Amino acid sequence: MSTGPRKGAFGNAVALSCRECGHRTDLGPFYACPDCFGPLEVAYDFPAISREEIEAGPANIWRYKALLPVPDDIEQSPNTEPGFTRLIEAKNLGAELGIAKLWVKDDSTNPTNSFKDRVVACALSAAVELGSKVFACPSTGNLANAVAAAGARAGIPTAVFIPSNLEKPKQVNSAIFTDRLVAVEGNYDDVNKLAQEIAAEEEGWAFVNVNVRPFYAEGSKTLGYEIAEQLGWRLPDQVVIPVASGSQLTKVHKSFQELIKLGLVEAKDYKIFGAQATGCNPVATAFKAGVDAIRPVKPDTIAKSLAIGNPADGIYVLDIARQTAGAVEEVTDEEIRAGIILLARTEGVFTETAGGTTVAVTRKLVETGQLDPTLETVIINTGHGLKTLDAVADQVGPAATIAPNYDAFEAANII
Ligand SMILES: *Cc1c(COP(=O)(O)O)cnc(C)c1O
Ligand SMILES: [Zn+2]
Repeated sequence: MSTGPRKGAFGNAVALSCRECGHRTDLGPFYACPDCFGPLEVAYDFPAISREEIEAGPANIWRYKALLPVPDDIEQSPNTEPGFTRLIEAKNLGAELGIAKLWVKDDSTNPTNSFKDRVVACALSAAVELGSKVFACPSTGNLANAVAAAGARAGIPTAVFIPSNLEKPKQVNSAIFTDRLVAVEGNYDDVNKLAQEIAAEEEGWAFVNVNVRPFYAEGSKTLGYEIAEQLGWRLPDQVVIPVASGSQLTKVHKSFQELIKLGLVEAKDYKIFGAQATGCNPVATAFKAGVDAIRPVKPDTIAKSLAIGNPADGIYVLDIARQTAGAVEEVTDEEIRAGIILLARTEGVFTETAGGTTVAVTRKLVETGQLDPTLETVIINTGHGLKTLDAVADQVGPAATIAPNYDAFEAANII
């Protein structure tokens, strides 16, 4: 007897389709086209969906369940219920950067403090429906945190693989949820290669960003849906998004296109910008050189969550940046640190190095005339600064250390 996924396991999703040649494959733990090895993505047959139906849903990503590859009863499956994070009107940061209308989509407040909880919730649903035995990932840190937490809550064994030089807080934030945190002596690209080998050898392992990557990637669409809904069901003019594998950026674009097609927002032109660190800039380099091929790099940057030297979706990021008249820009580690501190001091939001990259790139895009400061702009803060404390620990600290009496306070002259 066949024990395939139950009926409706993937909601309105109907197939996996190849991004390169359009070949369609059944929904399942597949990620490469059998014809051309191109990446597969989820294709849907959407029914009519109204704003009111979405607004009546829960205050998490499942309000968009009709637009995701998840079953209609997804709310019954334990997961971390991420999403519907704040969209902050960032007047102070806007004034500092010279941008008239600026918002920060603050995904640092997700259950494990990064946007990865969104993608993991969708991957977990697929893993459950496919009957997977182990929930796993190669990770630059945040993904491992999200996988370990979601697996714990769902009662599924997890195994998460990270580069051994990862920030300590990110290691602890995984190990607190799982006994199987594996530190690999190598960079992320080495860890990723190992994960592909394990996925091919071990039966029933769902590697969220490898063999269930098409389902995983769809979770990032919810960032775009939320931005549109929180702006009052309309699209912004410009969005700035950090780029590691590039998946998130491509899915925010996909989400905007779907909202237009479904008539949930008015069609309009918008620009999508990608943000990278100079110490890991393969997509920014290709963008500036005007070439289509991405040459892998060996990462060396404090933005470890963005340190993917051979980004799987890099070529699609290039396409989208060019098609929408956006750009992919890069900043140095010094600028990243300054970006973290600037966001904290202007908006009271403590971001990690990825967010510092996004803020600093936004500044550079304005200064170089690539981003129009008169247009409505949203930047995405993808993670929390408490996970990358070391990045700024030398730059901020006590203004003075004083004896516990008023004279000492006065003498310190801190006002
Ligand atoms: C993973 C990650 C990203 C980049 O995501 P991709 O979809 O791989 O481009 C950005 N910011 C943070 C904090 C991340 O953890
Ligand atoms: Zn193909």
